[in-house]
Amino acid sequence: MSFSNEVRDEAARIIPEKACCQRAELAALIAMRAETTLNEDGSCNLQLESENAVSARKVYRLLKEVCGLQASASVVERKRFKQKRFYLSQVTLQKADLERLQELGLIDQDGNVVKYLDTKITSRNCCKRAYLRGIFMCKGFVNRPEANYHLEMVFNDIRMAKDIKKLTGKLDIESGISERKNNLIVYIKDSEKIVDYLRLIGTSNALLEFENVRIIKSMRNQVNRQVNCETANLGKTIDASVRQVELIEALIAKLGVNKIPVQLRELALLRIDHPDSTLKELGTLMDPPLTKSGVAYRMRKLEIFAEENL
Ligand SMILES: [Zn+2]
Repeated sequence: MSFSNEVRDEAARIIPEKACCQRAELAALIAMRAETTLNEDGSCNLQLESENAVSARKVYRLLKEVCGLQASASVVERKRFKQKRFYLSQVTLQKADLERLQELGLIDQDGNVVKYLDTKITSRNCCKRAYLRGIFMCKGFVNRPEANYHLEMVFNDIRMAKDIKKLTGKLDIESGISERKNNLIVYIKDSEKIVDYLRLIGTSNALLEFENVRIIKSMRNQVNRQVNCETANLGKTIDASVRQVELIEALIAKLGVNKIPVQLRELALLRIDHPDSTLKELGTLMDPPLTKSGVAYRMRKLEIFAEENL
């Protein structure tokens, strides 16, 4: 199972406790996946597609809890994208039912499904989270944390995309919008924000899996950074040493070793013999030993002497 499917499956198993959140999540599922058809007698058929049985069960539960409706469910075989099988929840809405769903803000005055985000339904934070969970169940994708960090929700209209971007923003999750093949993608790239997202929609197993991998990855990066840093320092030491050895050898060739001031001579010869050593290591080889800063001071004097005499 893909990580997206794992998250969607986990999200589908969560039934919000509070009535306000149940309505919000149902509103998201209806906005994304439902259609209505009006009948001549004034009643109306509500149909809602789910991609699997777990989601279909959730739809059934929510329609019952929120609207007092008993939907029938059927499996539909149809080739659409890669998926062949859909679960269809259907219920006939009598006039009173229709009015109730209109009151709840799930169906508009013309009897059509409300396809946009009604901010009255998501005014509370708990309801924003529930709405987002419903959206993810229908339109969400997230990479496994081992891959690059990426979570997205795919919409086919700009209004919904913008509204969802706004909604996540209010939950302190920054997202971006991009276009791909006539779809609008609301995406999150920041790993911490993806963690926040998974936490907010309540998918705690997915969250744990994500966090574990993220911690291992970040530790590995830290070790790599340290190694890079040590390599860089080593590089610097060697660069400086190569330059020093060249200067000293040129100096000896021109003046002879005895013309190098006696307090610099020992260091000059040590450097030639130990081109890979750090200044600190050279210090320990001196007699008497010298601190790193002492060696650095003498090395500067030696370089100045060389520049003056070459
Ligand atoms: Zn709520």
